[in-house]
Amino acid sequence: MNAERILVTGGSGMVGQALKEIIPAAIFLSSRDCDLRATDEVEQLFEKHKPEYIIHLAARVGGVKANMSYLGDFYYDNILINTNVLQAAHQHQVKKVISVLSTCIYPDKVSYPLTEEQIHLGPPHSSNFAYAYAKRMLDVQSRAYRMQHGCNFITAVPNNLYGPHDNFHLEDSHVIPALIRKIWEAKKAGTTPELWGDGTPLREFTYSGDIAKILIFLLENYNDEYPINIGNTEEITISKVAEKISYNLEHTHGLRWDITKPSGQYKKPSNNDRLLNLGWQRSDYTDFSTGLKTMCDWFIENYPNVRGSNEK
Ligand code: NAP
Repeated sequence: MNAERILVTGGSGMVGQALKEIIPAAIFLSSRDCDLRATDEVEQLFEKHKPEYIIHLAARVGGVKANMSYLGDFYYDNILINTNVLQAAHQHQVKKVISVLSTCIYPDKVSYPLTEEQIHLGPPHSSNFAYAYAKRMLDVQSRAYRMQHGCNFITAVPNNLYGPHDNFHLEDSHVIPALIRKIWEAKKAGTTPELWGDGTPLREFTYSGDIAKILIFLLENYNDEYPINIGNTEEITISKVAEKISYNLEHTHGLRWDITKPSGQYKKPSNNDRLLNLGWQRSDYTDFSTGLKTMCDWFIENYPNVRGSNEK
């Protein structure tokens, strides 16, 4: 596989930046290079680059508040981005497309651990249903094009991701970047940060560099029509994550848990047997403490020039 013929949408995002470390010769796109919602721009893009492989990461993503406030926009943008990319890939006879879904698109009422065949078995959580249905359609469109046109379009499902180049916006970010920013800013102010809930929920986290490696691994080893879970299934409590961040950032003013705020579901485990059966090893995942330390070091080095830090 010639890396120069791999086109990465969402190349400026966290996973895109991790992929750049592994396949720097690939074509990495941001929304400034091409607004993937615009069919004519996408057409021109494919004409120009003539990609053979696509790693499709681009998505309109956001935290709970943004998802709830802009349900229509999240649906519209993601449906257009995905529809345009897959249609152009089909028309230009791209050899293979790997698109990225998310475990947050699974049904709200589901049996755990999350297994791939459950993705469409019920409505997603009401807070992000527009984003979730749009992402589910990426699976539907990939399989439909495969059946009608023989396209080798596959989909992968990560769980919570973290790593350098994450989004540190206080309302739009995921749990780890939000904790890092809150704890860092409290350390600077000499105060104790107030964190939501009681810290007891268990979550799974996967280092962005591992997801980049797994996407390349799947490009080479997976051609099945069904989505494949790719996250690290090791669980850790939110309070343990916060303690590790405090340690890495040398924050010594403690943590205050605001138990009047929701803690979230106790656990949301996923199953990655399909990936392990392909030959990916549990030991291939980056150890959480190591990945978190790398992310914290990157944050210290780059703050305040990190994504989302100038927005409250
Ligand atoms: P990210 O850092 O938020 O980056 C999003 C990327 O999409 C950026 O490169 C952005 O470009 C691009 N984009 C957004 N709208 C676009 C448009 N209209 N046209 C062209 N490009 C557009 O995302 P990430 O965290 O790397 O996530 C990568 C993928 O994994 C996404 O599909 C996401 O849904 C999925 N995922 C992420 C997580 C997680 O915890 N982060 C978990 C599960 C699944 P600009 O930089 O120009 O805005």
